[in-house]
Order: sequence, then C-alpha cells, then structure tokens
Amino acid sequence: MVPPVIFWFRRDLRLADNPALLAALAAGEGRVAAAFVVDPHLAGGAGPVRTAYLRATLSALDDSLGGSLVVRRGDPAGELAQLARELGATRVVATEDFSPAGRLRDERVSRQLRAAGITVTFVDSPYVVRPGTIITRAGTPCRVFTPFRHAWERVAFTAPVEAPRDVAWLRAATRGVDELSAVRARARPAYFGEVGEGVPDFDRRVGEAGAHATLGEFLARAAHYDEDRDAPGLAGTSRLSAHLHFGTVHPRQVLAAVSGAAAGASAGVEVFRSEICWREFYADVLFHHPASTWRVLQPSLARLRVDRDARAVARFQAWARGETGYPLVDAGMRQLLAEGWMHNRVRMVTASFLVKHLHLDWRWGAKWFMWHLIDADVASNQHGWQWVAGTGTDAAPFHRIFNPTRQAQRFDPAGEYVRCHVPELTALGAPQCLQPGGGDGLLAPSGYVAPMIDIARERDEALARWRDARGVAATSGGDA
Ligand SMILES: Cc1cc2nc3c(=O)[nH]c(=O)nc-3n(C[C@H](O)[C@H](O)[C@H](O)COP(=O)(O)OP(=O)(O)OC[C@H]3O[C@@H](n4cnc5c(N)ncnc54)[C@H](O)[C@@H]3O)c2cc1C
Repeated sequence: MVPPVIFWFRRDLRLADNPALLAALAAGEGRVAAAFVVDPHLAGGAGPVRTAYLRATLSALDDSLGGSLVVRRGDPAGELAQLARELGATRVVATEDFSPAGRLRDERVSRQLRAAGITVTFVDSPYVVRPGTIITRAGTPCRVFTPFRHAWERVAFTAPVEAPRDVAWLRAATRGVDELSAVRARARPAYFGEVGEGVPDFDRRVGEAGAHATLGEFLARAAHYDEDRDAPGLAGTSRLSAHLHFGTVHPRQVLAAVSGAAAGASAGVEVFRSEICWREFYADVLFHHPASTWRVLQPSLARLRVDRDARAVARFQAWARGETGYPLVDAGMRQLLAEGWMHNRVRMVTASFLVKHLHLDWRWGAKWFMWHLIDADVASNQHGWQWVAGTGTDAAPFHRIFNPTRQAQRFDPAGEYVRCHVPELTALGAPQCLQPGGGDGLLAPSGYVAPMIDIARERDEALARWRDARGVAATSGGDA
C-alpha cells in the first residue's frame, strides 16, 4: 500500500473541479488527509471581514469533508512536516499559487520538506490559463490587454472535472477553524488612523454551495451584464470575486456555466468573459513583474509628487471613512466598510479621487482596500490601482480624470446607490444632490458634509504635477 498523501488546501477551497485534489487521491490511492494551514504571516495582513469570511468558508469546506478538515496554525513547512510524521505521509499535493508571496513560500516549503524526505507537487492553477503561458510572437510577456485577450481566447480551456465521491478522508488532531481566532493582525500604517474591529455584514453565500448559488443567480441576468454592470445601484454584476479569490469556484466552472446558459451567445456573456480575462491578465502581469506589487510599472510616473504631510493624512482619513462631501466617493467608501465589497465602477472613481484629487500615493489606497475587501487580491487590486493611477500596464492615461459628480450623474442618475450608502442623502430627492454647482463643484445638500476640496482646482494641480513628473510643457487634460 502506498503511503497516505496530504492535500494542502490554499486558494482552492472546493471539491468540484479541483484537479490537484484528484491528483492527491490518485497518488494516495484514496488515502488523503485534507489540510489547511493558517499562516500567521499571511493571515495577519487581513482585516476582520476577510478573516471572518475565510472562517465561514473553511467551515463550509469542513462540512463537505464530513468534518475531517485538518486545520493547523504556524509556518506551513513545519506544520505540514509535523502532520506528515503523524500520518506517515511522504507527499504533499497542492494547487499552484502565483502571488509573489505565495511563490516564495512554496519554494521554501518545497525545499524544507524535501530535506525531510517529503515531496511537494503543485498541480493546476487558480486561473483558466496558467500565468506565464501567453507570450507575444516576439517571445515576451504581454503588456497590453487586447492581444492577451485574443491569445487567451485561443487557448483550449479544459472542461471542469467532477468532485471526488465516497472518500474516507484521513483524520488528525485539529482545533478546526478556531485556529483563526489566535491570529493577531499585523501593525497597520499610521495614516489609517482608528480602524474598526467589527465584522461588517458580508454576503453569507459562502463556500462551494454559496458560490454555485451566486453563479446560478447571475446566469439569469448574464445576458444584460454589458448594459447593467456599470450601474452601482443595480445588481448587475456577478458578485463572484470573493469566490474566485478563495477558489470556492474555479473560473473554468464559471465560464462553462455562462457559456452553456441560455445567455451563452449574448453580448452580456461576451463582456463578462472579458472581465474574467482581466483577472487572468493581471495575474500574468504580476507573474512576470512581481515587484509591481508595490512599485510602479511605468517609470515615467515614478517621480509624480504626492503629499504625505498631516493634511494628506487628514484627507486620506476623510476619504477612507466616506466623508469627502462627494456622494459617489462617500457611498463607495462606506459600502466597502459596510460590506467588505465595492462596485467596480466606484472602485475606479474612489481610487481616482485619492490619486488625482487628493494627490496621495496610490499605495495608501491600495493598502486600505487590501485591508477591507473580502475579495482582496494582490494582482487585481494592485493593478486595478496602477491602472487608475496611470502607472500600470495598459493604464488609463493619467490626464483622463474621473469627475465624481459626472460619474454619479452618468451611472447613478436617480441616486439609488448614493442614497443607499449615505443615509444623510436619503431624505433628499435625487438627482438634485448630484447637480454640479460652480464649475465642477457640488451643491452640498444641508445635513451632508461639505465638499472637502474643489475638484476643478485639484484637477489642475494634478495635471501640473503630472507635467512636472514627465517633463511635459503643456497638455490639456480630459475628464471622464
Ligand atoms: C482600484 C481597484 C481595485 C480592485 N481590487 C480588486 C481586488 O482586490 N480583487 C478583485 O477580485 N478585484 C478587484 N478589482 C476589480 C473589480 O473591481 C472586482 O473584481 C469586481 O468589482 C468584483 O465584483 P464582481 O464579482 O461582481 O465582478 P463582475 O463584474 O461580475 O466580474 C466577474 C469577475 O471578473 C473579474 N474582474 C472583473 N473586473 C475586473 C478587473 N477590473 N480587474 C480584474 N478582475 C476583474 C473578477 O474576478 C470578477 O469577480 C479592483 C478594481 C479596481 C479599479
């Protein structure tokens, strides 16, 4: 009989369409222990909502494993070696991770376990197309989305595979998900100021069943995704981002479901596929440029002057708490605090406001998002921010500046979204609260915080700094 195998769950917290799990079962001839290691180093970087979400997701996974998920806390190399000793296992199997921190950890864990006589095998990836696969004809990584998308569409996607059945998972001592309670949060940057420790009311459709329920609901509206996805007041998007991040569903399953649904050939599904591809594109960019986690990709903008003084910190905190006086920005930041999620259009508007109207470092905003988002994902978040800041791959030109008032008029004309998240506006009949007054300013309704800045003036300031950074004499900006 072959020795048992440890399956190390990470960002693939599901049983169906999990080729790495099937590989572990094959290697162990059905004798497999399902393990999750709470790595205090990684877990300490998550805010309370992501930790609570992970806990709920692990509980759901444990249920689907008949209560045999072995949760340990500590350095993964040490914990897996210990578990292997307890079980007599000589092999660990996991889905490959592509985040820069994950890759470093996996190299180290593989090396240390090899020294202890344990083989580590990585199978599959959290993406439809493994990062690093798509390259240009010149043999270089893609730096622009559209050619990446064309090449990505040409890759033959593998069909999802079934969940294993009738497995008698091996058991070992564990305190289960309570291991997460012992994790201490890492020190937060001083500019965050006071941060609440409460857990917001997040979407409770967790785990694999929650992912499929969410996907099933989306299928009914997928045909209209192209028209509805930009309106934050509508339930137009899939809300699958946290599931994709934690791997309770694989994008292969999502694409197979949308393509096979009645909406399969619609414009909505076409645009949705493209959004899934953005996730894969950013993972690919980060794979080739791991330093872009915190460093700008466009060196020409590395010299952009940002503010870091006391006024900058005060401005950051007003932004973070949704008290800028610009309803769409405030609604977005409050949605983040209330739900651990924010609509994509509003992520773009709030990020643009921080970079181009408040003149703050995009990394400050990216860190705040990483702390508060359930779907916080290093590739999508850092490159989402770099896209807005004009410093990333395929980035929006810096001089195209989102006007938060016009964005609200365009994408939330009846004010449904802002009234939902900014209660002070509830009594006001929209859209008067969104009317621009005096150029790009805002008529602040009584009872609502006055605009903290004049966006027209700050926009000019941003463009002046941009010209300085690039050494450009004069270029007129454009608003979006
Ligand atoms: C500043 C900024 C920060 C962001 N941070 C994150 C993050 O930490 N984690 C994250 O998953 N997404 C991030 N995004 C991308 C996007 O906002 C979210 O994926 C989306 O809002 C999630 O909601 P949904 O699942 O309903 O999306 P849908 O519109 O239904 O899209 C389906 C899926 O496609 C992917 N996707 C959609 N848009 C993008 C995009 N622009 N970039 C990459 N993937 C995309 C997501 O996996 C998403 O779940 C960020 C965008 C910006 C502008």
